[in-house]
Amino acid sequence: MNPISPQLSPALQEQLKSLRDGYAAKLPDKLTQIESLWQTVSSEERAQWPADAMFTLHRLVHSLAGSGATFGFPELSLHARRAETELKTLAASDGELEGAQRDLINTALADLRTYALCSQSAGSVEIDESQVTPHGRRDLVLLSDDPDTIAWAGAIETFGYKLCVCTSPRAFLSAMKEPPAALIINCEANPLEARIEGVPLSSLLATSRAGENFPIIWTARHGDLRTRLQAVRLGGSAFFPHPVDVDSLLVKLDDLTSPQSPEPFRVLIVDDEPSLARLFGLVLRQAGMETREVTEPLDIMNHLVDFRPDIILMDVYMPGCKGTELAAVIRQQEAYLGIPIVFLSVEADIGKQQEAMRQGGDDFLAKPVEPRNLVGAISTRATRARVLRQLMVRDSLTGLLNHTNLKEQLEIEVSRAMRLNQNLALAMLDLDHFKSVNDTYGHATGDRVLRSLARMLTQRLRATDVVGRYGGEEFAVILTGATAQAAAKRLDEVRQSFAELAHFANGQEFKVTFSCGISEAPPNGESAGISEAADKALYEAKRAGRNRIVLA
Ligand code: GH3
Ligand code: MG
Ligand code: MG
Repeated sequence: MNPISPQLSPALQEQLKSLRDGYAAKLPDKLTQIESLWQTVSSEERAQWPADAMFTLHRLVHSLAGSGATFGFPELSLHARRAETELKTLAASDGELEGAQRDLINTALADLRTYALCSQSAGSVEIDESQVTPHGRRDLVLLSDDPDTIAWAGAIETFGYKLCVCTSPRAFLSAMKEPPAALIINCEANPLEARIEGVPLSSLLATSRAGENFPIIWTARHGDLRTRLQAVRLGGSAFFPHPVDVDSLLVKLDDLTSPQSPEPFRVLIVDDEPSLARLFGLVLRQAGMETREVTEPLDIMNHLVDFRPDIILMDVYMPGCKGTELAAVIRQQEAYLGIPIVFLSVEADIGKQQEAMRQGGDDFLAKPVEPRNLVGAISTRATRARVLRQLMVRDSLTGLLNHTNLKEQLEIEVSRAMRLNQNLALAMLDLDHFKSVNDTYGHATGDRVLRSLARMLTQRLRATDVVGRYGGEEFAVILTGATAQAAAKRLDEVRQSFAELAHFANGQEFKVTFSCGISEAPPNGESAGISEAADKALYEAKRAGRNRIVLA
């Protein structure tokens, strides 16, 4: 077996090693406990067994079978599994222990002991490095043969990208020492003929790429097939003819630079075994997910409210409360119907698995879970769940929360703010004279403008703020923990940036503004009051001349 993968950060390797060592150090005691219970069970008549002996013995062996391989001791799981199978049969019957059964358990336990003795220096926790996805990066290089600053470069930065503009071979080669999240090449001529200070772009590109893999976006004067073909041959992933439609370019950039869904997955881990919960947490976090580990199953409700997980990873066998029972309780509450619950279980019996699914589980991961498989398994299921949830709660044009869900979220946030005695502000936005945008440039262009405002709101506000599409060209933002004044300050920045943003249609450039009304959570804690107040303030903003913010 390989040592802990050398590419992992030293800090992570250290944490993994210490979890593994902690687990290995406890093994001898666990085995002694198992052996002494086994001693009692195997030397007495069934009627003489202490009340809980069989139950405890089975649980301890079961837990070893479910955890060994996760900590890098696959044989431990294997031998424990052998013993467990026999113990289970024995527990289920009411007959006496038979000779053959006794021998099987004896040898399995002896193998466990031998293996545990030499395991102190063996095992390692393995993580598949290819599953470790970097967070979405936003650093771009723009190479241009047009020394005049490009009109749309600023617009890209407005949306949170860091742009390094290069108009000379030297600047370009120096910028490309670190491969960017994406490279944009802007040329007046055709890609194959374009030169900068006499150097062909194609050879500059070849020099700088040296085995690196990043997306390249071309923009050129003509969008004819010949030009597009040249761009593809030079490694282009996308092509935009002049004048560049910045909104579509941004959509492309978002696609290309954030392969994963932009918000990290939140995984709630419920396992009564603290070291397992910690290990799962560590593995998922290094893959960019957020985790919360719960070892006390009865606390789960509080964590569901605060942490709002995308997915729950839950052990089936826990003392005090079975995972399946917990799932049933969670499912009885409408708000949590959509969260996938993935059971962790040593259960190989299909019938039992199906029973668990009926109680509200969505899937099974067989214990012991190899850390290297965990990230893939969780992200596939979480992605699917997000897509489904998006369809239910998101507006299809902008990807923002739809009206119904925004209202629901507002109620939740208002009552939370009351409970925690925190501020909360609500902003309602409405595009100015939007009907004339549609009338002049067409509905499709209007849709692009709506998407660009949606994107700007999500990127400019904090991750904890909730952004929704309230109606046609109306948006709403719930700013948690903010006073109306603070909210006004933040939205005014958005208002100014948006007003400066250039939109393009039929070769023409135009700008759009919005008006905004802001209110604060009322003392009585009802969300109806707060949205009416924001609505009134929005109306005031329109009346006072538009493109402004008014406080309720
Ligand atoms: P005001 O400044 O007073 O808000 O003027 P307005 O023209 O924006 O307001 P009005 O309510 O008269 O018109 C709203 C327009 O928004 C009309 C409608 O066609 C357009 N709209 C609503 N939903 C969509 C949509 O999904 N896509 C597009 N392109 N336009 C939409
Ligand atoms: Mg309007
Ligand atoms: Mg309107």
